[in-house]
Amino acid sequence: MPEREKVSDDWRYLNGSYLRGRTFEYRAYGPAEPGGDHDHCAFCWAKFLPYPAGEAQTEGWVTVWKEAYSPGRHDARRGKDGSLAVPVVGRAGNEAVQARWVCRKCFDDFRDVLDLKAK
Ligand SMILES: [Zn+2]
Repeated sequence: MPEREKVSDDWRYLNGSYLRGRTFEYRAYGPAEPGGDHDHCAFCWAKFLPYPAGEAQTEGWVTVWKEAYSPGRHDARRGKDGSLAVPVVGRAGNEAVQARWVCRKCFDDFRDVLDLKAK
């Protein structure tokens, strides 16, 4: 019998484990950045869009937090496919507002092991 795969070996876990302990709210998707048009699940990279299209998610779990602003970390940069590598929601003086979206399946799969909280 093959050993059961450990959740911490799941590639999705490796992507999203930095979100441990965060509080999430379930809501309709809206772009994290003004002018942005989509985001990706922090775990499985599923696409979020504000309108139904193919496999895209139109609602999900989002966590938002503020941290000290630094240009190297927070100025928006885009990947080759146009997705935001650094999805900044907004900025107020020395604070940057960050948001990460998580799809329903990943939230269910990791809420216990990563202590994800639902608001
Ligand atoms: Zn996901």
